[in-house]
Amino acid sequence: MLDARHLLPLLLLAPVAAAQVPGPRFTGKTLRFDYQHSGTATEEQVSLEEIRAEGDWAGPAGRLVDDTNLGKYLFQVVDLENQQVLYSSGFSSIYGEWETTGEAKKMRRSFHESMRFPEPTVPAQLVLKKRQPDGSFRELHSLVVDPASRFVNRAPITPRGMLKTHFDSGPAAKCVDLLVLGEGYTAQQSDKFEKDVERLGGALFATEPFKSRKSQFSLRSLLVPSMEPGISNPRKGIWRDAPLGLSFNAFDSDRYVLTYANRTLREAAAQAPYDALIILFNDRKYGGGGIFNLWATVASDTEPAPYVFVHEFGHSFAGLADEYYSSQVSYENFNPPGSEPWEPNVTALLDPAKLKWRDLVAAGTPIPSPWDKERYDKLDLEYQAKRKAQIERKASEEDAEALMREVKASTKPLLEGEKLAGKVGAFEGAMYEAKGLYRPEVDCIMFTRNPTFFCKVCTRAIERVIERLTH
Ligand SMILES: [Zn+2]
Repeated sequence: MLDARHLLPLLLLAPVAAAQVPGPRFTGKTLRFDYQHSGTATEEQVSLEEIRAEGDWAGPAGRLVDDTNLGKYLFQVVDLENQQVLYSSGFSSIYGEWETTGEAKKMRRSFHESMRFPEPTVPAQLVLKKRQPDGSFRELHSLVVDPASRFVNRAPITPRGMLKTHFDSGPAAKCVDLLVLGEGYTAQQSDKFEKDVERLGGALFATEPFKSRKSQFSLRSLLVPSMEPGISNPRKGIWRDAPLGLSFNAFDSDRYVLTYANRTLREAAAQAPYDALIILFNDRKYGGGGIFNLWATVASDTEPAPYVFVHEFGHSFAGLADEYYSSQVSYENFNPPGSEPWEPNVTALLDPAKLKWRDLVAAGTPIPSPWDKERYDKLDLEYQAKRKAQIERKASEEDAEALMREVKASTKPLLEGEKLAGKVGAFEGAMYEAKGLYRPEVDCIMFTRNPTFFCKVCTRAIERVIERLTH
């Protein structure tokens, strides 16, 4: 382990690399800050693992300072000489979710994380900040990095797996580069993987605003084959040694799929330029997950897979919150009570006059906006009870999907028949809270599995991220 005190004396000896794209202060390459994020519900620590050199920089070429104000955390690269922020990026993390679970009150855990940044030509300070309940950021950790020092790991990235370009819209720094990683596919299933990427990527680019912006995206896929198909499902005693470490039942939530093998995943992904990662796993069981500026995970073979692909990507790409509020989740006070969430599509409505999406609200729309919550909640409660019973009796995926169709048949006409359907307002019930948090429209792909569209507020949030990455 190294810290700033070890690295600082080297600054004087550091030769400065020649300036290239994307500007005189950057070499055009990518560095990765690998660290451990550990702690409990009440305190947390960050420790350096290593600084790793990757390939060409694929992130934004302009607007290097993140002005989107998304994420629970903020990463900054600061010029040591003049304290100017050279690059910044908001993000969320598995740790940031875990610390809101009951487990974090009982034990200490550690998660591996990475922040990638354009390699500066000069020594720089890396700063990690955490968002406070009032929305501001407080420093959590900082260290000095000299890109020219021998402490940057410049070992070549080992080629592994099969990399394919599905479509390429131009230079990585000017496009949104999506990389879909395959998990739980055997080498013999590589054709299936390719077809799954085409099918689900197709669903994403059939949905606005991705549809009209497709020419600003490139899509690549990488398959590191597994020995056996599928991923681990601990609740059914199914265990797989899948290369990227994906598993069901993250935070003891049946359908929540995460991996803790961050370093392995980053080393594989570093073979391709990418702005955003989606891990597509070969499984019949419904599930997935999405964390802002980290990645999304999606099961390939369930009936609602196209919905899951788009919904989870909404989380990981644009920091969108879940707009639903009744599903079983492991979080407790996901949003600190009395504070305005940073997520662009949820509000605590602390001051209705300052509603963050007020420019999209049509004149005359009441705030908060009325909807038949009681009737919806009654249907949803019935569904939750049936779903719970299904989990307990380890019901088949066919049964689970039949129940999803049943829910859709009852809730879709109800929501579509709402007087304010399709209008932007502030509808109570969002982000795991039935009271006190509000979503922008009656329905949205972040609320139910019914629509194939994002509400206007979510759409605009996605467009803002695309604009930053393609500036
Ligand atoms: Zn929405």
